[in-house]
Amino acid sequence: MFENLTDKLERSFQILKGEGRITEINVAESLKEIRRALIDADVNYKVAKNFTDEVKTKALGQDVLKSVKPGQMMTKIVRDELAALMGGTMTDITLEGNPAVILIAGLQGSGKTTFSGKLANLIKSKKGRQVLLVAGDVYRPAAIEQLKILGQQIGVEVYTEEGNQNPVQIAENAIKYARTNHLNTVIVDTAGRLAVDEQMMQEITAIKAAVKPGETLFVVDSMTGQDAVNTAKEFNDRLDFDGVVLTKLDGDTRGGAAISIRAVVNKPLKFISSGEKMDALQVFHPERMADRILG
Ligand code: GDP
Repeated sequence: MFENLTDKLERSFQILKGEGRITEINVAESLKEIRRALIDADVNYKVAKNFTDEVKTKALGQDVLKSVKPGQMMTKIVRDELAALMGGTMTDITLEGNPAVILIAGLQGSGKTTFSGKLANLIKSKKGRQVLLVAGDVYRPAAIEQLKILGQQIGVEVYTEEGNQNPVQIAENAIKYARTNHLNTVIVDTAGRLAVDEQMMQEITAIKAAVKPGETLFVVDSMTGQDAVNTAKEFNDRLDFDGVVLTKLDGDTRGGAAISIRAVVNKPLKFISSGEKMDALQVFHPERMADRILG
């Protein structure tokens, strides 16, 4: 996904090849190329500008190490700054409370239901917990059916209340059910709409207020580019979520959302999803992603 960005960054470092040291003059062209490369990858303009300003300060502030060439020094600064921009270190999810409750929010089609299944699978297999999935999308029978099929695939029970149109009640009842049945983790999938609207926001905030999740995750399709970041901001203003999940990184995405979401929304990216299979989920590590971007 980052092939273009990787190539362009590499070329921007090449500009410094042959220079004896980094100076304000010789670094300018390189920085311009870096900024252009980021914007082409769908990174928010302001984020890209702040980023290159920061890289410039770091580059000019470096002591001139005789052993390190300017191109190499720039590569290292960009790598470290990219990792910092994406959050620095990995942020794990909170699994406190009995049961620990995780609420999943996002637009319709973003990949919420698929992610709910993947997360249940990961928490069950990697953390050895007993998970209950809750079908909270009461408007789309197909979504309930989809969750049931995923639950069967991964061996996780799915809580449904056919006919009940009240997702707050369903989520509350599911938590009671989990307590009675000694299931220590509840993942609540919720309804989304095609665009942010008031009714959806009221519903999801009501569910959050009722079940008090230890973790609220916002799921967003990375293929929507800069819109992914804007939607995340809108949801966060209302929902104050704890982390972001970027989906469809296996698709035709330029990856900019992964780079800018943390800076714009000020919430960590926690998982990246790259496929429809139940194991196509990775915990997000900013440093590993920075290494991947630099190729
Ligand atoms: P929801 O409406 O938010 O619950 O979204 P779904 O989980 O139903 O996903 C919408 C579509 O995207 C489905 O066809 C999924 O199979 C697909 N999908 C979800 N996550 C990914 C992913 O990471 N990669 C790809 N290629 N497809 C995905």
